[in-house]
Amino acid sequence: MPVSELTAVVTGGASARGIGRATAHALAASGWNVAILDLDEAGAKDAAHEVGERSGSRTAGIACDVTDEDSVAAALTALDAVLPPVGALVNNAGITSPVPFCEVSGAEWDRVFAVNVRGAYNITRRLVPGMAERGFGRVVFLSSVSAERGGGVFGGVAYSAAKAAQLGFARALAREVGPRGVTVNSVAPGLIDTDITAGGLDADRERALLAGVPMGRKGRTRDVADLITYLCREETSYVTGATYDVNGGSHI
Ligand code: NAD
Repeated sequence: MPVSELTAVVTGGASARGIGRATAHALAASGWNVAILDLDEAGAKDAAHEVGERSGSRTAGIACDVTDEDSVAAALTALDAVLPPVGALVNNAGITSPVPFCEVSGAEWDRVFAVNVRGAYNITRRLVPGMAERGFGRVVFLSSVSAERGGGVFGGVAYSAAKAAQLGFARALAREVGPRGVTVNSVAPGLIDTDITAGGLDADRERALLAGVPMGRKGRTRDVADLITYLCREETSYVTGATYDVNGGSHI
């Protein structure tokens, strides 16, 4: 089925400078209809409008808290009414946490896992069966270089652990649904220029982090979005269970 007859769902695509919004633009430019699901309803609608205007694709911006199963169910019902069936899911909604391990509370640990891991489960669990029935699907997880190296941008153990959990989730799911035409891959960005990094870094910390990046600069959201769009192509049918580093070489 051509992607113009399917919808790509991007969670957490409202943030104006975020990876999700850039991904929504790139997917729409390559022919997908696009649904942006985000806690921030106004931002999701604004993003959908912007993406639709620029690409000519059909889009929808829908309120959704990925941590809440009822909210996910309601968002997908709303999506079903306005856009074609879902052929791709980008699990992009994520939060970080800078709290050092010796200070982290159970509640903070759970909060980070609720969005990054349980949130990804809530929506993937609802969308993958339909993909498998149709014999075609693309799922991409936004992990992080923090999953591989530990620490990373904010140094939070909860964040690194949650992003590493996503890698296991993606690989096991890839094994299970591969025979039914669904690929599942992960991208692991390094320091990307978005609100998540702009809000939490002072100039000295940013300089120190960039010293460990062979490319000598932050990544652009477009760098990540283009790779995700490649992984979602109909033709990219023999890549699954893979993790792609997009970090300017900082994993070396
Ligand atoms: P961002 O903070 O700019 O955007 C995150 C979006 O997720 C926001 O629009 C927010 O409203 C939404 N969101 C948060 N909780 C949600 C929930 N419960 N339900 C639905 N939506 C929710 O983030 P970003 O920097 O664009 O990062 C996107 C993804 O990439 C995240 O998973 C992040 O962990 C990962 N990542 C980012 C970087 C980086 O340097 N920016 C590096 C590695 C990995």
